Amino acid sequence: MSDNQTTSPAPLRVAVIGAGPAGFFTADQLVRHKDREVWVDLFERWPTPYGLVREGVAPDHQSIKGVTRVFERVLAHPRVRFFGNVCFGEHLTRADLVPLYDQVVYAVGAQTDRRMGIPGEDLAGSWPATDFVRWYNGQPECADLDFDLGVARAVVIGNGNVAVDVARILLTDPEVLARTDIADHALEALRASSVREVVMVGRRGPAQAKFTNVELKELGALAGVDVVVDPAEIEGAAVSDEESEDRRVVRNLEILADFAGRAPSGAPRRLVFRFLASPVELSGTDGAVRAVRIERNRLVPDRDGSSRAEGTGESEWMEAGLVLRSVGYHGVPLPDVPFDEGPGVIPNDGGRMLDAPGGEEVPGEYVVGWIKRGPSGVIGTNKACAADTVAVMMEDAARKPESASKRAGPEEILRLLEERIPAYVTEADWARLDAEELARGQAAGRPRVKVVQVDEMLELMGKGEQ
Ligand code: NAP
Repeated sequence: MSDNQTTSPAPLRVAVIGAGPAGFFTADQLVRHKDREVWVDLFERWPTPYGLVREGVAPDHQSIKGVTRVFERVLAHPRVRFFGNVCFGEHLTRADLVPLYDQVVYAVGAQTDRRMGIPGEDLAGSWPATDFVRWYNGQPECADLDFDLGVARAVVIGNGNVAVDVARILLTDPEVLARTDIADHALEALRASSVREVVMVGRRGPAQAKFTNVELKELGALAGVDVVVDPAEIEGAAVSDEESEDRRVVRNLEILADFAGRAPSGAPRRLVFRFLASPVELSGTDGAVRAVRIERNRLVPDRDGSSRAEGTGESEWMEAGLVLRSVGYHGVPLPDVPFDEGPGVIPNDGGRMLDAPGGEEVPGEYVVGWIKRGPSGVIGTNKACAADTVAVMMEDAARKPESASKRAGPEEILRLLEERIPAYVTEADWARLDAEELARGQAAGRPRVKVVQVDEMLELMGKGEQ
């Protein structure tokens, strides 16, 4: 080769673990990268792709699900392969994947709920809101959960958008939900629901609530629902300088003031907001929750300049037959992958995986999405997060242009999959199930009718039993 001749670097082979929004945005940016030809294999534990878009986004928020059109284009890309129904750590391990790829990216999200750590938290009828969300969205693991909605009052703990989602789903006219892709089992249970009042309990004040404007406002527009806010809680709300400059906070306070000014119309259902209140204990009979003890809080300055809730010692009991703990998601460790238990993330430096919190970089392994930065932000936040991770991946790849050549060919993973999990799913298999769900939806005047059991999914994909 003469001095002025250069060889283009070998194609980069990347495994993305988790086919949710973070995984898809990462795959998209990798295959569209100008400087290097990248091939991506997307691995997913369920036979269906899209992660939180399918199992988290509320069924009455169909427009948010429009992002799947971007993801469909990624799946159709000639340099992207989808391998569903493949559980990392069970069917394939880190030790299997690392030698087969130049780079591995973990995009597994935050798979569990945060705990409150109070007595009675595990009584029957006290659920993580994340389970309720997965149940009404037909996620296979939660499809068979048995939520008792034959109760008059539900208490939702937390002031985030998940709390708003679960409160809204509990109070929305089921005939409105019947026009969505809500799971059939959930629709049936909600049609028979006796829940007449939902109390949403926030440990801090209205200015510190995390929900966003559109989501909050939507609660005030639910047919057949009175929203109840104590005007004193809004008028007397503590607002820091920083909060008073935050348009989201200012608008939330305006919306809540509007709710507070409404006279009850005697609607059949009610949504009650309670601020500066923390659940401290749940009590029950025969193992099932019957009441929540709520302690009144005051706000005190925190070390970082924000404010935190501190109990005043004053408390009251509130009857509740259903408690949905909506206090945030939490990451779960992957087998043989470093983990930082506190924030529930894989330790990383700007997306480069570390061998321990504050430890050394592990070359060739990366993280993106909630398992990188914790469970915050909306679906679109993952696009910027993916851009950051992809930037460091490409920076590292540019330093080692020869590395791709040492890898096994793209067929090696197929051989492993055939051996470990013959019922693995490809993009063509998913396309068959997708078409079937859409067809069932069209016949019922709905966007889609979800299949919620893995066996049925596989059967419709022509894969037989798992
Ligand atoms: P979040 O926004 O972090 O809200 C969690 C809430 O739980 C906060 O109000 C928090 O209060 C409270 N909390 C935490 N620990 C508590 C405890 N021990 N006792 C009482 N309250 C406690 O989490 P999320 O609602 O699960 O949402 C996760 C992310 O998904 C967010 O970024 C959210 O915006 C996003 N999301 C978006 C949509 C949408 O766009 N429509 C829908 C759903 C979710 P403090 O503030 O005091 O910590």
